[in-house]
Amino acid sequence: MTSVGPRDLVLAVDVGGTTIKAEITDAADNVVCSGTVPTPQGEAAFEAMGELGDRLLAESAASSMAQRTSLGQGRRVARAAVVLPGIVDPVRSLAVFSSNIGWRDVKVGTRFADRWRMPVLIEHDVAVAGWAEWRYGAGRGYDDVCVLILGTGISGTLSIGGRLVRGAAGQAGEYGHIPVRHRDGLRCPCGNIGCVETVASGASIARAYAERTGREISGAEAVFAVLDSDPDARAVVDDAVDALAEGLFGVIHATCPELVVLGGGLARAGAALTGALQDRLAELLCVAPVPRVVLGEFGARAGLVGAARYARAGALE
Ligand SMILES: [Zn+2]
Repeated sequence: MTSVGPRDLVLAVDVGGTTIKAEITDAADNVVCSGTVPTPQGEAAFEAMGELGDRLLAESAASSMAQRTSLGQGRRVARAAVVLPGIVDPVRSLAVFSSNIGWRDVKVGTRFADRWRMPVLIEHDVAVAGWAEWRYGAGRGYDDVCVLILGTGISGTLSIGGRLVRGAAGQAGEYGHIPVRHRDGLRCPCGNIGCVETVASGASIARAYAERTGREISGAEAVFAVLDSDPDARAVVDDAVDALAEGLFGVIHATCPELVVLGGGLARAGAALTGALQDRLAELLCVAPVPRVVLGEFGARAGLVGAARYARAGALE
């Protein structure tokens, strides 16, 4: 693969359930141009990614041309990375499945590389977001780090001995589907009962609060907002923290991470979440050392920041 030089730009595309975000950035993460479009359902999403990339590349080429006129040199976009939700097979360049957007077995292949005339990497959005938090965000400098991306679902990454664990099928990090309420839990969309996600995802927290109080609430953030004044909110969040801690219990005994990083939309709850999880782990763990629990640095931008870093690095190392 051709290398990306320090003066080269990269194109990062982060595909979410509601919007596709893209940026062209330089080596210092300065944004040269950016854009957001709604995510169409099904395979049409891939055409929308292509068009958004086209638009940003045209903008970047125009500004590079202007620079060349004034400074005698322009900058090229050397590589792109597209990060996708659901199940992704980067080796076969396949978007295997997204329940949110509704695609199955879409061959990405060379469609973006041909269109944009540059090497284009594809990866799983959470793998890239977790890798970015570990290597460049809250986990930098640590070799053994567990990153949880908390949002609509819960998954993340695990780094051991300075390497990202991908697993044989590339699907390591599905923390959300570790069962923690086998006997009396709710059915998870995955088919099992009592997965971490059925208690601790954003949607589950909002649903548990509504069921407990009979009051509809806009989302989990609204539950966190009234934590100090509303005992029902406190009980629901305590239950979610408990499920997260129990889900991490086996992971911590098996791998002994130094650090647990909480990223994604729900991590905006901040210390209410990190402090509570840290305390619960300290209560539960008798043998394994208690890891430090910290907030991610990139928040909801971890996927986009990660995609740009991945495009520049060429590998999740
Ligand atoms: Zn599940």
